[in-house]
Amino acid sequence: MKVLVLNCGSSSLKYKLYDDGAEQRAGLVERIPDGGHEQALQGVLDELSDQTIDAVGHRVVHGGARFADAARIDDAVRADIEACIALAPLHNPANLAGIDAAMARLPDVPHVAVFDTAFHARLPRRARSYGIDPTLADKHHIRRYGFHGPSHAFVAQRAAEQLGRPLEELRLITCHLGNGASVCAVECGRSVETSMGMTPLEGLVMGTRSGDIDAGALIALLKSGAMTVDELDHTLNKQSGLKGLSGISNDVRDIEKAAAEGDERARLAIAVFTHRLRKYIGAYAAVMGGVDAVIMTGGIGQNSATMRRRALQRFEYLGLLIDEEKNAGAQARHDRTPVVDISEDHSRVRSLVIATDEERMIADETRRVAGGGAEVQSEMPIPIAVSARHIHLTREAMDALFGPGSELTSYRPLSQPGQFACHERLNIVGPRGRIDGVRILGPLRPACQVEISRTDEFHLGVDAPVRHSGDVKGTAPIILEGPKGTLHLQEGLICAWRHIHMHPDDAARYGVKDRDEVMVEIRGGDRDLIFADVVVRVSPKYALEMHIDTDEANAAELPPKSEGSLVGVEGRQAVLLKRKAWPQPAGE
Ligand code: ADP
Repeated sequence: MKVLVLNCGSSSLKYKLYDDGAEQRAGLVERIPDGGHEQALQGVLDELSDQTIDAVGHRVVHGGARFADAARIDDAVRADIEACIALAPLHNPANLAGIDAAMARLPDVPHVAVFDTAFHARLPRRARSYGIDPTLADKHHIRRYGFHGPSHAFVAQRAAEQLGRPLEELRLITCHLGNGASVCAVECGRSVETSMGMTPLEGLVMGTRSGDIDAGALIALLKSGAMTVDELDHTLNKQSGLKGLSGISNDVRDIEKAAAEGDERARLAIAVFTHRLRKYIGAYAAVMGGVDAVIMTGGIGQNSATMRRRALQRFEYLGLLIDEEKNAGAQARHDRTPVVDISEDHSRVRSLVIATDEERMIADETRRVAGGGAEVQSEMPIPIAVSARHIHLTREAMDALFGPGSELTSYRPLSQPGQFACHERLNIVGPRGRIDGVRILGPLRPACQVEISRTDEFHLGVDAPVRHSGDVKGTAPIILEGPKGTLHLQEGLICAWRHIHMHPDDAARYGVKDRDEVMVEIRGGDRDLIFADVVVRVSPKYALEMHIDTDEANAAELPPKSEGSLVGVEGRQAVLLKRKAWPQPAGE
């Protein structure tokens, strides 16, 4: 499949042509006048006239709250991209001009929009909300969206390959440092925090953008009449950042040279840039409760050993040690050395320099979405079970809480083969409150796990991460009280990710696999409801059943014995998105 990737800026057009995975042609048209995108594109297509193009992938900067994934472009999708112009007045009009021109010239092939914001579309509520009245925020679409999605997603995947571990079990901090710059916390393959916000102006110091600045300073500038709104816009977006600080250039090479020659403002620019970056890296390690690797990418991250060293030094306390020699020589290039590990051999946290390739990611996404596969292959209904709060124990915990050698006794079997609810119960104790008599589920397991709902969380006064059952590493601490003792668990407290247990035969029938994320429409309540982010767990031990927690069941007003149907697989839901808005994410 030949995919043409188009990245239309306000006055430029970048393109790359891929044949399956391989890059075949690339080019750049610059200084395109207003309204000249169609002509520029015609030039590109003339150049590619010897090629058969099967699909076109378009980079679109802002997908608003509407797009959580790439989408095949039709009239409705185009209208939604247009509606996002208010959020990205500099970018989306140019992206749309490219889409219109390309669709007019290549009307018979699928066109796919790949959004910068999509990777962050399901940022947890706590990370995407600003500290203002949510009604005001909703009214004006003020929330954090995040950008550079294809780059963060691309390097996160590359990092997982390099580390030889599944992305689903890694905590990564990806630093995209180009002219625009942003950091992202990628936990279990999802963006859970990112430094750019409602617009690409928030966060790191960038080539010409200020990044974080006290909103009060802007109010003061406007109130005093020092600047008009447009002047302020221009100052913060075009005359600030490395360029504004140094007074020399937005290019790190020029600034490093001047700093070495003694220029004070160049030194200030480097110090502020790297200090801000360090601050975000430390913060994101805190957000995820640890980090497995930090990734440096973009023109600065891939090339500047100085900036990398300043940003990554003195992280020994996190277990991150840079090898000075490896760092000094490292330059990542996708045609030569796409990944360089600059960590000391015994460093627990790896530091990787990775060549980003946003166009390749856009091509991959385009191939996936254009290739279809949106339909779920079976309408077989899924029984829904409401999973009450419960506890799983290890042998050691059992001994500590019920006395050495004590055993669990079955009160009734559960629908999952081999599992049973026990007569034994425990009290859960938090700093604010306690919940007594919580049932233990058997059999004993290799790790303790305490599953509660959001309501329980606020009652106890604790903060439990949303996790898959079994993934307890780095989760929250909690106290358990039993008849023979009290146990302070260092980790194990979770709000369980909603999930579907499936036998491999069922998975084959639906056309899904283990850890796919799906959407389930639930009927039977007062209103139909779609749950997104439902994780599929496949095992020969499992019987078909979806588990949701009591809060979710209450919110959906579920009657007993409800059923759901699988209506979309994440990453393949373009069809569904056309008819429904994106449902609520699972995370807080
Ligand atoms: P964009 O965000 O426009 O795609 P890039 O990711 O290509 O930008 O990054 C461009 C920036 O990378 C330059 O402005 C410069 O600051 C930095 N850069 C590129 N090459 C080097 C290098 N060899 N040493 C230091 N910095 C570099």
